[in-house]
Amino acid sequence: MREYRLTDTQREYHKLKKRESRVRVAKVRTPEETKALNRAQYERHKERYKSKSRAWQNANRPKQQAIAHQAQVRLRYPEVWARSSITNQQLVDWVTQRRGCPCLYCGAASTHIDHRIALAGGGEHCFSNLQMICKDCNLAKRDRAEEEFLGWARRIGELNSVSVV
Ligand SMILES: [Zn+2]
Repeated sequence: MREYRLTDTQREYHKLKKRESRVRVAKVRTPEETKALNRAQYERHKERYKSKSRAWQNANRPKQQAIAHQAQVRLRYPEVWARSSITNQQLVDWVTQRRGCPCLYCGAASTHIDHRIALAGGGEHCFSNLQMICKDCNLAKRDRAEEEFLGWARRIGELNSVSVV
C-alpha cells in the first residue's frame, strides 16, 4: 500500500488555505447572523446541551450550594460569621458527603443545609449546629429551632414519621 505523506510545503499550504477560509467566513457573517446560527445550533441539539448542563450542575451543585450558603451567612449574619471558622472548602466537602443522604426527619433525600438552632435564634455557624435535611422539612422548619420544629410538626401532623426526639 502506498503511503501518502505531505511535504512540509504542502502542509504549510493546507494550513494557510484552512486559515483563509476561516477568516473569510468570519468576515462575511454579521454578529446577528452568528447569533442566529448559534441559536439554530442550540435548537437543533437542545436536549444534548440541556443534559450536558444538567450533568455539570449536578456534579457541581454541592460546591455551588456550599459557597452560596457561606455568602448568605456572611451577608445576613455578619456577627455569627465573624465567630465562625468554617472555610468554603470545608463546607463543600461536608455538603458533598451528605447531599442525597436520608433526611433526619422524614427520610427523603436531603438537599438543604440547615442550622439546627437557627442563626436568627442565636445558633452558631459551626458543624455541630449544621445538618442536611430535605427541602420540605427545611421549608417547614424555617427559623424554628429543632425542638420547636418537632413539636410544631407533630401538632400540625404534616410529618407523620418524625422519629427524632
Ligand atoms: Zn425531610
